[in-house]
Amino acid sequence: MSELVVHNARVMTCDPDRPGLGMIDRGALAIAGDAIRWIGGDAERPRGAREIDAGGRLVTPGLIDCHTHAIFAGDRAVEFGMRAAGASYLEIARAGGGIAASLGPTRAASDEALIAALGARLDAALAGGTTAIEVKSGYDLTVEGELRLLRCVAAAAARRRQRVVPTLLAHLVPPERAADRDAFVAELCGALIPRAAGEGLASSVDAYCDEGAFTLAETRAIFTAARAAGLAVRAHAGQFRDLGAAELVGELSGLSADHLEQVSDAGIAALARAGTVAVMLPGACVQLRLPVPPVERLRRAGVALAVASDLNPGSSYCETLPIQMWLATTHLGMTVDEAWLGVTRHAARALGLAGAGALTRGARADLIVWACDEPAHIPYRYGAAVQLIDAVFVAGEPADCSILRRDR
Ligand SMILES: [Zn+2]
Repeated sequence: MSELVVHNARVMTCDPDRPGLGMIDRGALAIAGDAIRWIGGDAERPRGAREIDAGGRLVTPGLIDCHTHAIFAGDRAVEFGMRAAGASYLEIARAGGGIAASLGPTRAASDEALIAALGARLDAALAGGTTAIEVKSGYDLTVEGELRLLRCVAAAAARRRQRVVPTLLAHLVPPERAADRDAFVAELCGALIPRAAGEGLASSVDAYCDEGAFTLAETRAIFTAARAAGLAVRAHAGQFRDLGAAELVGELSGLSADHLEQVSDAGIAALARAGTVAVMLPGACVQLRLPVPPVERLRRAGVALAVASDLNPGSSYCETLPIQMWLATTHLGMTVDEAWLGVTRHAARALGLAGAGALTRGARADLIVWACDEPAHIPYRYGAAVQLIDAVFVAGEPADCSILRRDR
């Protein structure tokens, strides 16, 4: 007998072997331990020690946020005000704001303060249905400091059931190393990347390849070191200027190319050939008033699209995904089905999490019971989407934050 059976549900499986979102209109699923033991039609369901009647409501995979910078100290609300008054991101960065403005507070913060701040953001994400989340380093930009950030990510992750995927981010050359940037890149490649890999602190390396960050040649050097250390690669690509990062990520069969407001047809073709995921970050796109990424060209080329929060103190201080799904559909031109696959199955692929982001037999039981029955309601009712969550299960257990309003 299964420990828990959820029945009388509209189950969105996101199973790649079923069409579209893999809906089972009168569906049920059975959980044993931390995994889904059975899934199918309501009439054939097994008996469970505990049974939940979902009352025809929607049950979906837990959401996966595949791009965040969730470990940082301080905030940049002042810059938000400057941008609202008309200043551009690059103007603010040249005036000493931007990423560099987060280095001081993050370097000065204690381990415990960083772990607590990250933990609060992870909890907010969970309350919004995020059961798996990527966290990038990148707000220290010294070898020892970046390793410390990744150890803090591991410490926060060890305290929760939510799945946390750590990424080492080559964010930019810090101002104090501007005069010897070649030596800084050599340190990243020769010391930071092999040490992070050796300690098991990251599963991939991300590089910010753009104006004001790393050049294409530097990005290639960083990726070469990452692959030599056995780590996957992904890039911040073409947020402001297309430097050819999409072509490079495709050439190296990277996991994802993210942002892509600026990308050539050759870059898109390279992503399609490699099966690399294109991660859309609509919150940052809107907040920085950037042109929208070419969703239609990516779709036509057959590139899988993911949607993420880009949670960071500068351009997108947002822990939850439903509002990103709203922006993806209304501002970027993605369909509701694309937005859903973008925060489930395709997000899992962007993180290299095989089998995650779908409700299938044997998968980890990360799922959401919603207080509505239509997939479109989550982006459509964007102001209240988080309140539409009835319960979140993480690895088979109801999350502490679950709003179990009714005893069903
Ligand atoms: Zn980012």
